Amino acid sequence: TVKRRPMVIGNWKMNLDHVQARQWLLEYASSNTAWQHRMEDADVVVNHVEIGVLPSFTSLLAIRDMARDTTLDPELFFGAQNVSELDAGAYTGDISAQMLAALGCRYVLLGHSEQRRYHPEDDDKIDRKMRVVLDRGMTPIVCIGETKLGREDGIGIDYALNQLVSAVRLLSGEDMSRVIVAYEPVWSIGTGMTPDPSVIESALADIRDFINATFGADVAAKVRILYGGSVNPGNAAEIIRRYGVDGFLVGGASLDPAKFAEICHLAA
Ligand code: PEP
Repeated sequence: TVKRRPMVIGNWKMNLDHVQARQWLLEYASSNTAWQHRMEDADVVVNHVEIGVLPSFTSLLAIRDMARDTTLDPELFFGAQNVSELDAGAYTGDISAQMLAALGCRYVLLGHSEQRRYHPEDDDKIDRKMRVVLDRGMTPIVCIGETKLGREDGIGIDYALNQLVSAVRLLSGEDMSRVIVAYEPVWSIGTGMTPDPSVIESALADIRDFINATFGADVAAKVRILYGGSVNPGNAAEIIRRYGVDGFLVGGASLDPAKFAEICHLAA
């Protein structure tokens, strides 16, 4: 069986300017070190968790410079919250995959429900964004998830699966094995409400079944599937224990560096 590396990604949304981002990273590095010591004392290996943050475009450079600072050694990757599906040219206000790759971004978040809601983001564009991100050697983190209405109508996971079907239609199996899927029920984002852990487990199993049916067992065994929606230090341990949960996409709680470090260590 393939061992998937657990991961925790912090989505800062439209928060933390570049000065605040530097401060965040300093505090995170010291919280992280404190946790490392505690875990070492308890004989737990923690540094196999892959940890990343998704700052605003304007904070990426500050994070890049600090993440490279070996005296801090935060072992932190970073990425962007969105990208244009186009290469370059007369697209005022947009940011290309080439620009993000040049900054050293490891990830690009695609299809976040807030983008789907407040911008004309649609499934059709997301599939092309997946393509440009992979072509530039970065990892797409694609968000899928049903709204509260969808859930009450009993079409929860089907709604999310349809989003995934559409997002991956331009991908080969090899491409797909590099993709990260974040299952985020929209009604759970920023609300403090989470589905029962057994519901999360079964939703993630349905997602992996779809990948298996579409791309085969080898690919399905490699794709990391994260849960997102009101994850905090109080519920992370219970959710990560569930079968098939490879980690978290964390919004609100990631703005607090100590809380984020704690969630990262609970995911180990
Ligand atoms: C998110 O925005 O991806 C998210 C999961 O937010 P929160 O953790 O605040 O619910």
